[in-house]
Amino acid sequence: MDLTHIRNENGTTTLITRQQAADEIDSAISGPTRKDVDQMSASRTGANLHYRDGRTVEIRQATPDEIAEHSTPALSYTVIYTGGGEPVVHRTGCSHNLRDSGRGAHRTQVIAGTIDDVCREVFSDFLSEDDDPSDFYGDLNVKPCAR
Ligand SMILES: [Zn+2]
Repeated sequence: MDLTHIRNENGTTTLITRQQAADEIDSAISGPTRKDVDQMSASRTGANLHYRDGRTVEIRQATPDEIAEHSTPALSYTVIYTGGGEPVVHRTGCSHNLRDSGRGAHRTQVIAGTIDDVCREVFSDFLSEDDDPSDFYGDLNVKPCAR
């Protein structure tokens, strides 16, 4: 998933994908949110949207500096496969006493930005690019240190 665009909503900046940018703009022009937008200007690479509920949203291509600044820094997670039950996820180096248990238990480290990325890694055999990793949250035992 390539985060290539800046989305600034009332001063709060997030990185989004080209597809997310296009979806929001298309929807405002001719889709379901058209009626929610009272002013907009769109260009080839972005848009300024003013929603009737008071939100002002600017969408444009991000510069490499902005992408670096707003990307979630990679974190290290430790995933313990317990040999039964859900894989347990800790932040690597947390203060918990990590005990492996059960037959076939093992642990692995995942360098990732978010729990979504951990989900993708752990369930890579089941997830395709289009799947929403959050659907798999229930199959992970994410400890508070990793949230
Ligand atoms: Zn922990």
